[in-house]
Amino acid sequence: MGRIKQRRHYEERYRGNFFTTNLNALIGWGRRYSLFHYPFITACCGMEYMSAACGHWDFDRFGVGMTTFSPRQADMLFVVGTITQKEAPVLKTVYDQLVEPKWVIACGACAVSGGIYDNYAVVQGIDKIIPVDVYIPGCPPRPETILDAIDKLQDKIQHQKQDWRWKPKS
Ligand code: SF4
Repeated sequence: MGRIKQRRHYEERYRGNFFTTNLNALIGWGRRYSLFHYPFITACCGMEYMSAACGHWDFDRFGVGMTTFSPRQADMLFVVGTITQKEAPVLKTVYDQLVEPKWVIACGACAVSGGIYDNYAVVQGIDKIIPVDVYIPGCPPRPETILDAIDKLQDKIQHQKQDWRWKPKS
């Protein structure tokens, strides 16, 4: 019996009692729904973040509920608000301290591009300092937009190639 035929045979026989997958998909699924995020909040978009995190929207429902203020216990960085040149090194340090694999969401026009602050004191987009996985437009973005961004990030995490092997520190 060929491999595919054999798999179908077992799936038919034990219908509903098991499923087939691969390690990459399984790890992706686990990572997708167990994000520990570090909120780096500096300005007014913070209200929208709070609204998305609590009350009506409650993004804990999607597996992003664990908020931590230790970057060493976080794997997702939520950058919310304006980042000034003085804050830039702090943001970079926090990013460097996150555990691998790690992801970043830039929330609001200021984090994405500097927003209305087109001047020398404000970083014109956090991707000038750190890599960004998902951008959320708007000044400020609605909580629904934040939920949509979380969903997009989770899709990305689920489908990326998972690096799961233990590597010694060099
Ligand atoms: S994008 Fe708008 S609401 Fe958000 S931090 Fe900037 S100025 Fe404030």
